[in-house]
Amino acid sequence: MRKTFLPFSRPAISDADIAAVCDVLRSKWVTTGQKAAEFENRFSDYIGCPGSVALTSATAGMHLVLQALGIGPGDEVITPSMTWVSTVNLIVLAGATPVFADIDRDTLMVSSDTIKPCLSDRTRLIIPVHFAGSAADMGPIRKMAAEKGLMLVEDAAHAVGTEYRGVRVGREGTSIFSFHPIKNITTGEGGMFCSNDQGLLDRIRRLKFHGLGVDAYDRDMQGRSPQAQVLEPGYKYNLTDISAALGLSQLARVDQFNAKRTELAMRYRERLSEIDEILPLADPPYPIKHSWHLFIIRLNTERAGLGRDEFMERMKQRNIGTGIHFLAVHLQRYYTEHMGMRRGMLPYTEWNSDRICSLPLFPDMTDDDVDDVVKTIKEVLV
Ligand SMILES: *Cc1c(COP(=O)(O)O)cnc(C)c1O
Repeated sequence: MRKTFLPFSRPAISDADIAAVCDVLRSKWVTTGQKAAEFENRFSDYIGCPGSVALTSATAGMHLVLQALGIGPGDEVITPSMTWVSTVNLIVLAGATPVFADIDRDTLMVSSDTIKPCLSDRTRLIIPVHFAGSAADMGPIRKMAAEKGLMLVEDAAHAVGTEYRGVRVGREGTSIFSFHPIKNITTGEGGMFCSNDQGLLDRIRRLKFHGLGVDAYDRDMQGRSPQAQVLEPGYKYNLTDISAALGLSQLARVDQFNAKRTELAMRYRERLSEIDEILPLADPPYPIKHSWHLFIIRLNTERAGLGRDEFMERMKQRNIGTGIHFLAVHLQRYYTEHMGMRRGMLPYTEWNSDRICSLPLFPDMTDDDVDDVVKTIKEVLV
């Protein structure tokens, strides 16, 4: 058994990251300023999109975009139930109705085929998720959205550096990235809104800071414009320079991080192929570049004679941390009690929700760590 606990995720924080944050502290300008602006610009360059807005989280980005798009009572928003709860919570809080599309059994992603049965004349918006670092099949989804006049926002929380058909996720359309500590790069907490719609970028920029017509920082004046007025009621979701400095430093290493994640994932794939009870996710049938945010397996519970939760518990007892990404949202208490959701509605989502488990995957892991995980899986399955 391992002597030390292997968490399922751990951010890669370097001396350069620490120095970058300390520099901001020493500068005495700690809230949104030059670093946040620089982070937005570098992120746009990396993604290849015309503009980005740095925010306190991806959840904040989702909140703002629902508001900016005018989503409210009577509107239906199509999204998977196999997602993080924040998206669905915000749809409900906006007074709109979430409509859940089922997913592909082996990529965990919605497609134009699974979205189609969810369309109604109340549908306004589709929010697909690029799952685990892979990419959803956006071609047919974009075509469908364009034909039906629907809006589209991509949940790219897992997808910094992911490519779909040779194009980086976030370059086309509107996407939201997350920099939560488990994501591929971190700012502590943080998110980025990217769009090629200039009007939408302007709205988000305004809404993230009280609805004032200025940014949090007047780049010429080195301070706020005291005369700025509220143009529409907004929120307080601006990313601080402390966080942005960490983001800039991390962004410089994102390709290195993702390459390491890929190497580790390939080792997992190879080593796990001999374990019949374990089914990793599949690559989609179209060309992608995977950023390997998560390494997800499904436990064949029937064959293993063991439930997923018990499997995770046994791994933990042997010093291996694991995660669940995600428990189906539609089966969570609020949604069954208040929104009439029940088991049987989304077969592949439910099948995966009962069996998925995320294995440790982060850039500072070693090949030996992967081998420890695989060895431990074999032990707990006998
Ligand atoms: C992490 C995550 C989010 C939310 O990101 P935050 O920055 O924590 O708000 C949204 N969607 C998915 C799929 C995520 O994994």
